[in-house]
Amino acid sequence: MKGSCNCGAIHFSVAPEANRAVACHCTKCRKQSGHVWASGQAAPDQISITGDVTWYKSSEKAKRGFCPTCGCFLFWQAHDEDAISFALGALQNPTGLALQEHIFVADKGDYYDINDGLPQKD
Ligand SMILES: [Zn+2]
Ligand SMILES: [Zn+2]
Repeated sequence: MKGSCNCGAIHFSVAPEANRAVACHCTKCRKQSGHVWASGQAAPDQISITGDVTWYKSSEKAKRGFCPTCGCFLFWQAHDEDAISFALGALQNPTGLALQEHIFVADKGDYYDINDGLPQKD
C-alpha cells in the first residue's frame, strides 16, 4: 500500500499485513481531520516514511504527524507504542482494506449517523 500527502512532500508505504482498519470518532481526530479519521495500524517494520513529518503532541498519550506544507494529517502514534497509525484516506486505490469497526463512538459528532452495520465501540 502506498500513500502520500496532497503536496507530495511526504510519501509512505505499508506492508499488506498492516490491516487494522478503523474509523475513529473521537473529538481530537475529528478536529484534526475535519471529520472521522480512518486509519490502519502498522508495526515499525511494516511502514516506511519519506519526507519531513511534523509531529504534534496532542495529548499525554499520543502525537499526530502531519505535512508542514499542505497540512495533511497522516499519522498517529502513542508515546508508549512503536506501532504507527496511518491515514486510510491518504492511500492510493486499491488498498485491499475494509473498515472493521468504529471507535470512540461516544464522542462522535451529532451531525451524522453511523449506519454501515459495523461494530461500534464507545
Ligand atoms: Zn504535503
Ligand atoms: Zn481518535
